Amino acid sequence: MPRDFYEVLGVPRTATDVGIKKAYRQLAMQYHPDRNAGDKTAEDRFKEVNEAYAVLSDADKRAQYDRFGTVGPTGAGPGDVGFGSLFEDIFDNFFGGGGPRRSRGMRGEDLQYELKLTLEEAASGLETKLQIPRLELCESCRGTGLEPGTRPSQCDMCGGRGEVRLAHGFLTVARTCPKCQGQGQLNRTPCKTCRGEGRQRVERLLQVKIPAGIDDGMQLRLSGEGSSGVHGAPPGDLYVLVRLLEHEAFTRKGDDLYAELPVTFPQLCLGTEVDVPVLGGTATLTIPAGSQPHQILRLRGKGMPRLRERGRGDVCYRLILEVPQKLNAKQRDALRAFDAASSGSRGPLMEGFLERMKKLLG
Ligand SMILES: [Zn+2]
Ligand SMILES: [Zn+2]
Repeated sequence: MPRDFYEVLGVPRTATDVGIKKAYRQLAMQYHPDRNAGDKTAEDRFKEVNEAYAVLSDADKRAQYDRFGTVGPTGAGPGDVGFGSLFEDIFDNFFGGGGPRRSRGMRGEDLQYELKLTLEEAASGLETKLQIPRLELCESCRGTGLEPGTRPSQCDMCGGRGEVRLAHGFLTVARTCPKCQGQGQLNRTPCKTCRGEGRQRVERLLQVKIPAGIDDGMQLRLSGEGSSGVHGAPPGDLYVLVRLLEHEAFTRKGDDLYAELPVTFPQLCLGTEVDVPVLGGTATLTIPAGSQPHQILRLRGKGMPRLRERGRGDVCYRLILEVPQKLNAKQRDALRAFDAASSGSRGPLMEGFLERMKKLLG
């Protein structure tokens, strides 16, 4: 598990934007690679601090992080790759100036898998197997990229030093050898299985556990389950992006589910009990006498389970008054009788409306 972002920046969860920025600046200065040449711990801390700040400095991402302890497509996914390379650039500019570069492998690629779920699956959570195409260490050469039984040969351009010296007037400047990229060695017998890359494409079956309550657009990070790194570098991560399929009855807002419920005028006036859909079945909803069109009635605790919390959201039914478009004689008579019986009694909406009309007319 990655560390808590607030902990990383050393600020309370209630910290203001200004407080977060201040803490970030201080830590970024402290752990900046310019000040910590070759210190792996500082390098990791610097990355961690940047990752935390990328989330906590963005109101939306921070809100999502506060709620779920994870963030969708942010400082992780593709963003992380971008940052990674920027970081490498800063790092290399600082160290690469004079001597030969340390030969560093390339971290494996992050991968994203889109997983489509029904609302029911998101409500119950599930364990499923995903087939992930990714690059893994080549089995023939064990990642070296060399045909088994062969060895790399010394780079003829730099004589194995990994750097070449160029004369600029009376100055001599060392540059990373362009032929071997600073490794001092060349692979003249590339592995036939992976063509010397050290990695091969594999379809890997991975078991993933989807927590109950997961919502559309959320990502699960499976650390180290991306592609393998090159030349011993660490693997990338796998991000499982959840997409919820549309549901026949419900739309989801957070942990609540919404449905429309058609009702008749007498049902609204007199009140009644009706059968309504809930996830995986039906339930009984009481419509109180005098309910209004568009009013929302809730069945508490029948909605989506809360992610990493106890309890569930609600199911909300919006009352939609359906007015009959055709009436038979009996209905018409009954309504006329109702209207006659109602004369003189007005509701608060009508009273207010008539009041405003009166004012307009002087
Ligand atoms: Zn190979
Ligand atoms: Zn060379």
